Amino acid sequence: MYDILIVGGGPAGLTAGLYNARARMNVALLEKMAPGGQVLTTDWVENYPGFPDGISGFELMDRMKGQPEKFGLEIRSEDVLRLEFRDDRKLVTTNRETYETRALILACGASWKKLGVEGESNLMGRGVSYCATCDGPFYRDQPVAVIGGGDTAVEESLFLTRFASRIYHVHRRDELRAVKLLQERAMAEEKIEFVWDSVPLRILGADGVEGIELRNVKTGETSRREVQGVFIFIGTLPNTELVQGLVDLDDAGFVLTDDQMETSVPGVFAAGDMRSKSFRQISTAVGEGAAAAHGAEKYVEDMQGV
Ligand code: NAP
Repeated sequence: MYDILIVGGGPAGLTAGLYNARARMNVALLEKMAPGGQVLTTDWVENYPGFPDGISGFELMDRMKGQPEKFGLEIRSEDVLRLEFRDDRKLVTTNRETYETRALILACGASWKKLGVEGESNLMGRGVSYCATCDGPFYRDQPVAVIGGGDTAVEESLFLTRFASRIYHVHRRDELRAVKLLQERAMAEEKIEFVWDSVPLRILGADGVEGIELRNVKTGETSRREVQGVFIFIGTLPNTELVQGLVDLDDAGFVLTDDQMETSVPGVFAAGDMRSKSFRQISTAVGEGAAAAHGAEKYVEDMQGV
C-alpha cells in the first residue's frame, strides 16, 4: 500500500511529488500522458518567478519533472479509470492495475473548453486548433482567427504573429479580460485585428477550414472572414470525471477544498486547475501542490499515530 498517490503530472502534481518524495513517503505519481500538463503547450512563460528572461513551457516542465525524480519520485504512465474511497484507504484503478493508498492527491488539471459551433468538431485537427504552439507553424503567411479575450487567447495570438499573415482576434465583448501588459502588446501588433462584440456562428470548410462566420452581438449583423485556421481559447473545464459524486464540487464543477487542499473526503486532496478558485497560474498550482503534499503527509502520520 502506498502512503500517497498523486493523480496528474502538471505543476501541482509534480510539486506535490517533490515534497512527498523528499519527505521519504512511499509515493507515486500517475499520469496518462507526458508529465507537464497544459504548460507543455505554452510557448513562453514569463511570470514564473526565478526566470527573469522567461523560459519555454516545455523546458520549465522538464525541469519540474526532473527535480522530484532526483528525490526518487516514481512516475508511472498509467490512465486512472476509477477511484473508490474506503475509510482508511483509497483504491485507484488504472488501465494496468488497482493500487491502494492511504492518501490521495488529485491534480488532474483542466481541458480546453469547446465553442460548440458548427464545423468545430469535424474540422478539429484540420484547421481548428486549441494549441498555437503545436499548430501555429502550419499557418505561415496564412490568415487565421483567434477566439477569446483572456490571457491564453492574447498570448497565443501574439505567438501566431510569428507565422500568420493576419490574425482576426474575435472577442464577445469590447474589452479584453487579459492582463494589461498582454493587451498593450497585442494592440501594438499590426498583424492583429480585433473584431469586437462578436461570436463565431460557424466554422466554414469541408476538408479544411476556409473561413469563419461571425455575429455581432450588439447589432446582430453577420460577417465572414476568410481564414485557414481557427484557434479557440475560451477557457477551461475541470477534469473531474473521476470524482463525480465522490467529492463536493462547486456549481461550475471544480473541486472544493479547505485551505489545506483537503476535499470533502478526509485524506483526499486536490490542487491546481481542477480546484475551485479564482486565479489559475503555474505559481498558484505549485503552491497548492506543496500544501496538498503537506496535508497528505499530516493525514498519513495522524493515521499511523506518529
Ligand atoms: P479565461 O480567463 O476564462 O478567459 C476565457 C475567455 O474566453 C474570456 O475572454 C471569455 O469572455 C471568452 N469566452 C468564454 N466562453 C466563450 C464563448 N462561449 N464564446 C466566446 N468567448 C468565450 O481563460 P484563459 O484565458 O484560458 O485563462 C484561464 C486561466 O489561466 C486564467 O486564470 C488566466 O489568468 C490563466 N492564464 C495565465 C497566463 C499567464 O499568466 N501568463 C496565461 C494563460 C492563462 P469574457 O471575457 O466575456 O468572459
